[in-house]
Amino acid sequence: MTMLHKPVLTDVLIIGASAAGLMCAIEAGKRGRKVVVLDHANKPGKKILMSGGGRCNFTNADVSASNYISHNPHFCKSAISRYTQWDFIAMVSEHQIPYHERDLGKLFCDVSARDILDMLLSECEKVNVDIRLNCKIKSIDKENNSAFNLDTSLGVFQGSSLVIASGGLSIPKMGASPLGYKVAGQFGHHVWPTMAGLVPFTLQPQDKSEFSELSGISVHSIVSNERMQFSENILFTHRGLSGPAILQISSYWRPGEAININLLPGFDAADHLITRQSIQPNIKLRTVLSEILPKRLVLALLGKDTVDTPLQSLSHARLGEIAKQLQHWQIKPNGTEGYRTAEVTLGGVDCNELSSKTMESSKVAGLYFIGEVVDVTGWLGGYNFQWAWSSGWCAGQVV
Ligand SMILES: Cc1cc2nc3c(=O)[nH]c(=O)nc-3n(C[C@H](O)[C@H](O)[C@H](O)COP(=O)(O)OP(=O)(O)OC[C@H]3O[C@@H](n4cnc5c(N)ncnc54)[C@H](O)[C@@H]3O)c2cc1C
Repeated sequence: MTMLHKPVLTDVLIIGASAAGLMCAIEAGKRGRKVVVLDHANKPGKKILMSGGGRCNFTNADVSASNYISHNPHFCKSAISRYTQWDFIAMVSEHQIPYHERDLGKLFCDVSARDILDMLLSECEKVNVDIRLNCKIKSIDKENNSAFNLDTSLGVFQGSSLVIASGGLSIPKMGASPLGYKVAGQFGHHVWPTMAGLVPFTLQPQDKSEFSELSGISVHSIVSNERMQFSENILFTHRGLSGPAILQISSYWRPGEAININLLPGFDAADHLITRQSIQPNIKLRTVLSEILPKRLVLALLGKDTVDTPLQSLSHARLGEIAKQLQHWQIKPNGTEGYRTAEVTLGGVDCNELSSKTMESSKVAGLYFIGEVVDVTGWLGGYNFQWAWSSGWCAGQVV
């Protein structure tokens, strides 16, 4: 252990100066606790700044346990009901940050995600939270009932509580690291295998060559598999499929599975085609479908010969098949883009070994896990930040 300088003694040590860590620091600081936050990045809250396309979808008007994925689906209930979206919105309003609601209750900053980070940093400053950046954690240890010792590139830190808020594995370029999972393992915790979530799909080579030319096309769809369905937009990209509905289902997808896409939700395509056939028998399929779907998409899905056929030359059974292709389009992704572009990491520190009220380890007194490192993963829509705020707040009341 590096002992060149005297260790920095504090009450609470938090690893990770982002959403969960800063919220926990504020709450602990308000209680008069001496808090030091350590982060290996050169700036705090990088993911907050890049979130929501730079506008930070900081919470959702409608939050419940059903918006979260975990091996223990009940675990998040206590935290999200003790520190709710309304509590966070109250803080945002107090700081006079302009925001607006988008579809499905998503709340975004009007101006910039920086407003949220500045709010958290100013609250930290008010209660004298000490944030140390560019800090590499070399080792962590705790001797029986004594404090935690952290040996770091900035010297040794000692604290009676240690909070792990180091996030998941997504976007390594932004400083993501497996530290939290390693610390959990070191102290005897079970960690569920991790997987990229809220992530675009890549396509099989054949599909990729067929659909890459559709890059930029976005269609409102219902995307489903056996476990879940989402009704939002899908987006064709030059690498594969993205857009909110795809990101959402990716968190429920397992390698090798097909997904089902209904490109015309709430519409009876077979009935529509049969009706149009009776009114305008000479009209080409391409013309009818172009009224309801992008032309290039119709062509790519059905092929030139089919779309150039007049409706009168297609049997009812064939029209039914065509409708099925559009409303039950089955596609088997090749994989996902992985942690490089994933918004979140599924899996993580097993909730069954943490207190749902305080986030404290049931194995090691004084050790806490909050935010994304825990096996609680939100849907797209501000749910992941709400989990970071709620779990950080809960730990902040007791550390
Ligand atoms: C592109 C993108 C957009 C997103 N948009 C949204 C959105 O709009 N709404 C939403 O709800 N969620 C969004 N998310 C998800 C959200 O950002 C995360 O769920 C949330 O930031 C998790 O908070 P956290 O504090 O647990 O972890 P993080 O925000 O990941 O913070 C972890 C911190 O720990 C530090 N750290 C990591 N390893 C170490 C180490 N070894 N030593 C020291 N420090 C370390 C990191 O530098 C970082 O500062 C988005 C994610 C991405 C990638």
